[in-house]
Amino acid sequence: MNELRDVARWGTPADAVTLSSGVRGLLSAALGITSPRPAASTAELPAGTLSETVLKELRSVCPAVSTDDESRLAHAAGKSTDDLLRLRAGRADDAPDAVARPATQQQVADLLAACSRHRVAVVPFGGGTSVVGGLAARREGFAGVLAVDLAALDRLVHLDRVSRTATFEAGVRAPRAEQLLAAEGFTLGHFPQSFEYASLGGFAATRSSGQASAGYGRFDRMVVGLRAATPIGLLDTGRAPESAAGPDLRQLLLGSEGAFGVITELTVRIHPAPQARHYAGWSFPSFDVGAHAVRALAQDGPLPTVLRLSDEAETAINAATGGPQADGCLAVVGVEGTAEDVAGRTAALEQRLTALGGTPLGTAPGDAWQEGRFRAPYLRDALLDAGAIAETLETATFWDRLPATYAAVRGALMENLSGAGTPPLVLCHISHVYDSGASLYFTVVAAQTEEPIAQWQAAKAAASDAIAASGATITHHHGVGRAHRPWYTREIGDVGVAALRGVKQALDPHGILNPGILLP
Ligand SMILES: Cc1cc2nc3c(=O)[nH]c(=O)nc-3n(C[C@H](O)[C@H](O)[C@H](O)COP(=O)(O)OP(=O)(O)OC[C@H]3O[C@@H](n4cnc5c(N)ncnc54)[C@H](O)[C@@H]3O)c2cc1C
Repeated sequence: MNELRDVARWGTPADAVTLSSGVRGLLSAALGITSPRPAASTAELPAGTLSETVLKELRSVCPAVSTDDESRLAHAAGKSTDDLLRLRAGRADDAPDAVARPATQQQVADLLAACSRHRVAVVPFGGGTSVVGGLAARREGFAGVLAVDLAALDRLVHLDRVSRTATFEAGVRAPRAEQLLAAEGFTLGHFPQSFEYASLGGFAATRSSGQASAGYGRFDRMVVGLRAATPIGLLDTGRAPESAAGPDLRQLLLGSEGAFGVITELTVRIHPAPQARHYAGWSFPSFDVGAHAVRALAQDGPLPTVLRLSDEAETAINAATGGPQADGCLAVVGVEGTAEDVAGRTAALEQRLTALGGTPLGTAPGDAWQEGRFRAPYLRDALLDAGAIAETLETATFWDRLPATYAAVRGALMENLSGAGTPPLVLCHISHVYDSGASLYFTVVAAQTEEPIAQWQAAKAAASDAIAASGATITHHHGVGRAHRPWYTREIGDVGVAALRGVKQALDPHGILNPGILLP
């Protein structure tokens, strides 16, 4: 039996937040939630299945291989609500049999060779923040499961000031990468909500997108080079920023979620650290008017660094629970850069957004958003304790389909979760913009039923069906993992699946890399 308090949550127990009276009042008034749902304090681990002979061989190439319960439990799941609910119910069925902590890239390669010989499934583990079941490998047909935790691979290998690129080992966590770059006067500019714990290798493996993507781009666009260890050897990509030398093999590794190789090193574009920042709030009379304004900026500029637009429900709930105050729909418009650039773009944005129907709310809402932008995951733990389900999901589509996708997903969630009793809260914002389309990010809060895991899985399936039926993609930035696999395989079709299977077969002939993730 093992203590769960450190793993079935975001951050450490010391970071736990308590719900404000505003939130508690809302849970009871809007969702009828009154009885808390405390988490189990311990979890039972399945017996390990790796033999002493195999463990000895693994340790001969990587001395840091642990089989203790604490290590296994800490690598048993990601951080989706589904993962947390399972752990909170005392279930750690997907715990690996052992955890390797390689100290060098060569040790990763040697571990893969040893695991191939002994048919041990390998789960690359970056920050462990997957929300799509990306860390739960299929066991059937394998001698056991080894999590390969890349945390010790956290060096800044090289910084090229001339080309403005930095080469990192893949296990480096985002805050440390930013600290290392800040010491040299640079930033990467990748700030997903999981920033505090996620790793650069994980960002590449899942094609992550950060909150400042309007200015700095998605993570996959930041990557200029990748090195991956595969069971058949090293794959090194990216000898020039762009190239016409055949298909771009970087694209095979970006989004491959550990199924084709373990990314051990990556080279990313970097930017001079911003000298100035200006974050402002704007209100729009409706989501439609706001979406039109956001599209106008994405297509014709000026483009800020951060651009998000909440729908009416998200704006109202945030305002009612202590967040930025706004009528209608709140947009956060943030600009970062040199002092001159920030002043110029801010003035141009003020003119354009006013012309597009926006009302300026000053910097208070923008600053409040910046300050609280990594807080939601801590709040989720408190909501789960209180008896609510709280989860997010996301998609992307072209601008012309955006209203239909928004309505379909919202409708599917409302209908599915209302079946269990009180209608849920379904909130949405436009989270990432492009000239041709945008990402929609939904937050759902509902009263837990007696079977919250099944409850959420049904709601998620209904939302995923609605996403697919509306012609949108099953994921804009969370990745496929296990949770999105059925919709993903339908999205890419039989030929797409065959192409990826061919790659998998070539790079990983024994299929040991993250079995069950990405592809069936
Ligand atoms: C509260 C919360 C907020 C989030 N917000 C965002 C957000 O704003 N934007 C966003 O894009 N995502 C977000 N996510 C999702 C998640 O943080 C990202 O998917 C992130 O990219 C995963 O990084 P990680 O290092 O934690 O990877 P992990 O969770 O450790 O791994 C993710 C997947 O990639 C594989 N993998 C990890 N490292 C490697 C490697 N080096 N080589 C090969 N495969 C590897 C794993 O096996 C797994 O399948 C959020 C998650 C949570 C829990």
